[in-house]
Amino acid sequence: MPKFKQKTSLWLDKFSYIIVSMSFITEQITQIRQQIQSAANAAQRDPNTITLLAVSKKHTVEEIKMAYAEGIRDFGENQLQEALPKIKQLASLAITWHFIGQIQSNKTQDIAKHFHWVHSIDREKIVTRLNDHRPTHLPPLNICLQVNIDNEPQKAGVHSEELLPLVAAMEQYPRLCLGGLMTLPQQTMDRQATAASFSKLQTLLHHLQQRGYPLDTLSMGMSQDFASAIAAGATIIRIGSGIFGTHQ
Ligand SMILES: *Cc1c(COP(=O)(O)O)cnc(C)c1O
Repeated sequence: MPKFKQKTSLWLDKFSYIIVSMSFITEQITQIRQQIQSAANAAQRDPNTITLLAVSKKHTVEEIKMAYAEGIRDFGENQLQEALPKIKQLASLAITWHFIGQIQSNKTQDIAKHFHWVHSIDREKIVTRLNDHRPTHLPPLNICLQVNIDNEPQKAGVHSEELLPLVAAMEQYPRLCLGGLMTLPQQTMDRQATAASFSKLQTLLHHLQQRGYPLDTLSMGMSQDFASAIAAGATIIRIGSGIFGTHQ
């Protein structure tokens, strides 16, 4: 009998965990969508031109399913080992998977096979490998070039001056489709500094468009700063903790 009792309470724990997380994620997504709407209105933009990318790193497939049930279709992961089993388990859902983490060259084959977008590209060596590994039965892999917009010494991303040659080089890779630019601005409490970084990325995209490159994607803005990214033209905002909460 005690055994049975223990089982029941375990089941109840799991059940109440699911109910609590469900209403939490539902509520967070509702709030974020309202904030996207008002940031878009303030910038006189159509909110439908902004994709809410749910960053599901460190979160479970159950949590991803809950966000999916709320209509989220784009999910982002930054660790290949963590992402692959999730992608496999969720293969029956119509999810667009985005790779947003640093890329080691020995990981390019799996990334090219299992993802729809890669946001974190900053060197041609990775470009070449992704192009070579992209399976021919799949459409070209969508790419954002990551820009180190604040010229931080330790940070990933191309510097602004190196961007144009890399963009020009992208034309040699038919298995890739360059959509635009991505950035992670420097961490600061100074909201104006962050807004200025987003504007810089927007200006870079405009310069490339003026040169004739058909780019339309700005991947920028996270849970704390997406409203100012939307003001500067973000078309993909990457939200993790704002949807799933934070881990201890
Ligand atoms: C984790 C992560 C995010 C999401 O950050 P939150 O502050 O949790 O919204 C966005 N972009 C990248 C590249 C990340 O690694």
